[in-house]
Amino acid sequence: MTATPRTALTIAGSDSGGGAGIQADLRTFFACGVHGLTALTAVTVQNSVGVSGFTEIPPDVVAAQIAAVAGDMGVNAAKTGMLATADIITAVAAAVDAADIGRDRRIPFVVDPVAASMHGDSLLRAEALEAIRTELLPRATLVAPNLDEVWLLTGIEVRTAADSRKAAEALLEFGPRWVLVKGGHADGDSRCVDLLSDGTHLVAFDGPRYDTPHTHGGGDTLASAITAHLAKGLGVPDAVAAGKKFIERCVAESYALGAGVGPVSPFWRLRPDATPSRG
Ligand code: PLP
Repeated sequence: MTATPRTALTIAGSDSGGGAGIQADLRTFFACGVHGLTALTAVTVQNSVGVSGFTEIPPDVVAAQIAAVAGDMGVNAAKTGMLATADIITAVAAAVDAADIGRDRRIPFVVDPVAASMHGDSLLRAEALEAIRTELLPRATLVAPNLDEVWLLTGIEVRTAADSRKAAEALLEFGPRWVLVKGGHADGDSRCVDLLSDGTHLVAFDGPRYDTPHTHGGGDTLASAITAHLAKGLGVPDAVAAGKKFIERCVAESYALGAGVGPVSPFWRLRPDATPSRG
């Protein structure tokens, strides 16, 4: 027997292709050294070419999964991915409150406001966007939207660094403690700048933009890596910095699988030369 590891809970959908969703979250938690707990919200039918459909899990079953693991095993940090419907979002909001997960509560809560796959296939029923704004964002320790999600949530189209700042301010109005606007542009396309803000502090994370078509699961993997580092006790800016280092390496080592978009890969983390300090 060894010491009990920290735990991270993902509240998310299944990707049958194994590149995104709960599958990406679990392998990221594993690679970051925390025990992964899951509350499954939906089962998608998808491969590298797209999502052909999904079936959601009944909201009371989603809530019961959260309560079951939180009550027995304990949760050190939690994240959401695909939530599919407004009813699931309402059930998740009540369940995380009961488990003391969320902004200004004991357990940090990362919200990845997943709306669609990179192929443009919907992962969220249209009426559920308002529930993300009103029920999820006020509970978030950190919300981490990509540029499409920023546009859906705020109507702001991010093209410049000034747009990213404006989007962060608009998202903070919904009540999260921190906002990470992912993938903004500084000057041109060769860098990928993520902007972190709590309204007082503004941190720009500037990294390379890798030239690969295989980035499936990238958003999930970043949010999970941040969540894993929060579970290990880091504060939000340090957890984002560690998560960003982790995802850069995963994107650099992504691979082709199937006829379409291949997944980002945390496998590098399992090599003997990969040191924990790499994030
Ligand atoms: N499928 C599931 C279950 C997801 O949660 C997500 C993203 O969060 C996706 C697919 C889409 O991933 P990507 O946009 O990286 O293709």
